[in-house]
Amino acid sequence: MTTVQKLGTSVKNTWCPGCGNFGILMAFKTAITQLGLSPEEVVAVSGIGCHGKITNYVKVNGLHVIHGRVLPAATAVKLANNGLTVVGFAGDGDCYNIGMGHLPHAARRNPDVTLVVHNNMIYGLTTGQASPTSKQGHRTRTTPRGVFEPDVNPLALALASDASFVARGYAGDMRHLASLMVEAMTFRGFALIDVLQPCVTWNRVQTYEFYKDRVYKLEETDHDPLDLSAAHSKALEWGDRIPVGVLYRRERPVYSESFPQMQGAPMARREVGGVDISRLLKEFS
Ligand code: SF4
Repeated sequence: MTTVQKLGTSVKNTWCPGCGNFGILMAFKTAITQLGLSPEEVVAVSGIGCHGKITNYVKVNGLHVIHGRVLPAATAVKLANNGLTVVGFAGDGDCYNIGMGHLPHAARRNPDVTLVVHNNMIYGLTTGQASPTSKQGHRTRTTPRGVFEPDVNPLALALASDASFVARGYAGDMRHLASLMVEAMTFRGFALIDVLQPCVTWNRVQTYEFYKDRVYKLEETDHDPLDLSAAHSKALEWGDRIPVGVLYRRERPVYSESFPQMQGAPMARREVGGVDISRLLKEFS
């Protein structure tokens, strides 16, 4: 039986003490155990940034890819072996800046993958530059007079792109985040969880203290996750009250259903016989 302890690795963790990434890592391990998945059945794909080290710290299949390309890599893994549970991990800079182009396309295509974004609203690994989700007025090392551009709203963007499952989690509430991950990982289709992740070293504005009295759970309100218009309203809510939970959920055909050759057993498990690839190999040799 998979346990949280068995999902640990011997790699030394170099995240700063208190970093919100720890809550996300523990939530992921908890979700795997709650789903009764074995490590072989799970693939974690991570990008570039502090979050990217997560694939070193959890004993499942791991793929650490180039900057901004978590979604294409995760989609490819799922298409090659649809028997796997595929979870992408990206940072706000990784996903909402250099990798931004992939988000609306993943949302409209609806591959059966989960994307967890460690949204700390700053570039942490490169020591504190403004990111696409840094709030207006936030003074960072690259914006000493404050960010003057409006920030990207990833939840509103995902909803406008027809994403099937849109949620927000908080790294300071590991149990709740784990329950969101369980829901997203069992959801059939593309599931985005944008996670409020305090960066204790470089972001002195959106701290645990900042979130403590603001975050509230949508499931404790009368919010209906089937109501797109209500989801849009919740995506725009930011200030004294910040909603977490599932904003929107809707079933629709997943990407692989468009390919007749993808039906049946996972492609990775099929017999490949009677195919001569020597010409192809020659072309690339
Ligand atoms: Fe976490 Fe920020 Fe440290 Fe990176 S720099 S490990 S995001 S606290």
